[in-house]
Amino acid sequence: MIPYGRQEISDADIEAVVAVLKSDYLTQGPRVPEFEQAVAGYCGAGYGVAVNSGTSALHVACLALGVGKGDLVWTSPITFVASANCARYCGADVDFVDIDSGTYNISVPALRKKLEQAAQSGRLPKVLIPVHFSGQSCDMVPIRELADQYGFSLIEDACHAVGGRYRDEKIGSCRYSDITVFSFHPVKIITTAEGGMALTNDAGLARKMDLYRTHGISRNPEEMTRVADGPWYYQQLELGYNYRMTELQAALGISQLTRLDEVVEKRHLLARRYDELLKDLPLTLPLQEETNYSAYHLYVIRLRLSEIARSRRQVFEALREAGIGVNLHYIPVYSQPFYSDSAVSSEDFTEAEAYYSEAITIPLYHHMRFSDQDLVVERLTSILA
Ligand SMILES: *Cc1c(COP(=O)(O)O)cnc(C)c1O
Repeated sequence: MIPYGRQEISDADIEAVVAVLKSDYLTQGPRVPEFEQAVAGYCGAGYGVAVNSGTSALHVACLALGVGKGDLVWTSPITFVASANCARYCGADVDFVDIDSGTYNISVPALRKKLEQAAQSGRLPKVLIPVHFSGQSCDMVPIRELADQYGFSLIEDACHAVGGRYRDEKIGSCRYSDITVFSFHPVKIITTAEGGMALTNDAGLARKMDLYRTHGISRNPEEMTRVADGPWYYQQLELGYNYRMTELQAALGISQLTRLDEVVEKRHLLARRYDELLKDLPLTLPLQEETNYSAYHLYVIRLRLSEIARSRRQVFEALREAGIGVNLHYIPVYSQPFYSDSAVSSEDFTEAEAYYSEAITIPLYHHMRFSDQDLVVERLTSILA
């Protein structure tokens, strides 16, 4: 089976992890801050807070922004469930904004319209989580303007997007947001096995996320409510978690990061090959906006079903049977049973519904051979014929 995504591990990566195994610290050593500085430096952000997953990064980001019971968090319906779950962990309610028909990112006109209605009914979101779908940034300039106008905070879910750029700035710079979140799961652009990071330019938010990832415990006398009992003393200031990244993961991440630009360039090369090889098939291919340089986490095709004799399900199954590890990103989150209490009607999500009825993710990963890519194209061509 040709997988839809796969990690690439070099000898240098392996050596970096082995060196940690032979060192004094398996966790809470020097590699984690080194990795945080390397990622923050790469992106041009002030602070990086490394955690054990992208999901944990979203959770500590919501906590740091004060999301709690009675609050409302909005996100895209075409995303992994974690983009919404992070708000529910904090006791907040979740609502969704329809997607753009071309980029599959959150639609700015739909967002504007929903905000106007929400302002009238007094139910504005506290936080919006735009998701940079497939590695292409949302249009952050107008989203930032709306955040300022209506007074909500912004967390960029950039789990697909490390290594991408928006308007000549690296995704993760937090130029337009309060916090940006990355995932380093093996299917993503670079990996630490499990792992994630939250970036910000705000020292206060960085400190809060740091507290939340390690039990809410502080050893800093300046943060304590009274004078320390002695050198052993610490105080628990918040209800935090154990969301720490290990030294093994950080060492792997530092090593992987040195190849990030190369990895994204290769993904572009493969994507351009797909664009060319698939252009005459009855498909809608991924649209790239001029303001964007995608990290190309995913290559999603949409079937123009009126021109195809088979259903999406038949095409999907035939590809799997032919050894092509296709996937579907994503089932609209509002349609999940857990979210069935969200007061949404599918009429509000015409673009998300249309997308979900036509989309298939085809394989794309760093060391994918052209011959494997040609095989995907060949199988797809004959299945669609
Ligand atoms: C992968 C992913 C996450 C969660 O990241 P993990 O590291 O797997 O916890 C969140 N949001 C999106 C959009 C993702 O693709």
